[in-house]
Amino acid sequence: MKTIDVVIIDNNPEIPATLENILGPEGFSVHLIQTADRAIDLIESIHPQILIMGMWGDVSSRNELIEDLRKGPSGSSLQIIFLAKSEEEISGTINIGGDDFITWPVKPVEFIARVRAAKKRCKKYVSLFQELDFFREAVKHEEAVSAQVLDQKLHLRKAFQRIDHVNRELEESNKQLEEIVKYDLLSGLLNRLTLFSMMEMEIERSVRTDSPLAGIMIDIDNFKVVNDTYGHFTGDQVIRLFGGALKSSLRKYDHAGRYGGEEFFIILPDTQINQASRIAERFRRKIADLPFEADGISIKVTASLGISPFRPGESRGSWIQRTDRALYQSKKTGRNRVSIL
Ligand code: GH3
Ligand code: MG
Ligand code: MG
Repeated sequence: MKTIDVVIIDNNPEIPATLENILGPEGFSVHLIQTADRAIDLIESIHPQILIMGMWGDVSSRNELIEDLRKGPSGSSLQIIFLAKSEEEISGTINIGGDDFITWPVKPVEFIARVRAAKKRCKKYVSLFQELDFFREAVKHEEAVSAQVLDQKLHLRKAFQRIDHVNRELEESNKQLEEIVKYDLLSGLLNRLTLFSMMEMEIERSVRTDSPLAGIMIDIDNFKVVNDTYGHFTGDQVIRLFGGALKSSLRKYDHAGRYGGEEFFIILPDTQINQASRIAERFRRKIADLPFEADGISIKVTASLGISPFRPGESRGSWIQRTDRALYQSKKTGRNRVSIL
């Protein structure tokens, strides 16, 4: 078991010696200081749990010593017992900060009881301060953990914001991609795949609503000559301008697509054959009149057209074939004309 260090400080050498004789056999480790010089250094080097303080020096030097000791490392738990020679001395030291008072000469039994009580108080203070330190540490730890959680929450929120932003960008570029893959890059019209799915959709609608549906197949006349004369690159420009002219001639619910190289197909929903014929004729004339300005060259082309109404019950393929045959008829009979089948 750890021994309890008791420091006795008094300028009368008789008193400490008497007290040591009482406390020694009780198992206390007793240290005597008989001079006020460097008392603080000596006491702090012993690090006692109990200090028995006689009435040496004046009140202010005693005050100073106690204040300094209380500020020291175990100052809060140190038990200070004042040893007074008279009751007046007790009343003179009552405000100095002692933990107990005893008058000289001491009664050994009472003295031992007082010192034992001081030992108990000291132990209680020590464990109380340890507990306090533990809770202080726990609070510090709790604060650090809370700060960490807060940091992580902030980090997570930022990460979610970034993901949300990337998702929206992805959605946007997916939409753009969907648009891009629907169209033919050169003519700006629907590509063949989208054209076919539009045909299926309009056939289905025409059958369901019992409404007329017409198709026009268009082929640029003698396009090989355009390529041979002006070059393939200029030929491309003509296809681009031709697509633009076709698009601007149609109603917003019509669909135009590039069927093949210089061949195009127009789907005309809710359109009777004579109305389709007027649309085709108007477009034929527009193309024949229009000079295409490609790479600074003014190029004139004509187109042949074939029209055919969709017949309920037939397949998409047979509708296209008949429209193509109508186009072939226009080619056979001199080009730059419209035929109906
Ligand atoms: P026809 O009046 O009988 O239709 O004669 P044509 O010369 O237009 O027909 P033909 O089938 O003999 O030739 C079609 C030409 O169209 C040949 C081909 O190189 C050209 N062509 C097809 N696609 C493109 C394209 O994307 N760009 C260019 N510049 N030419 C193309
Ligand atoms: Mg052609
Ligand atoms: Mg052709």
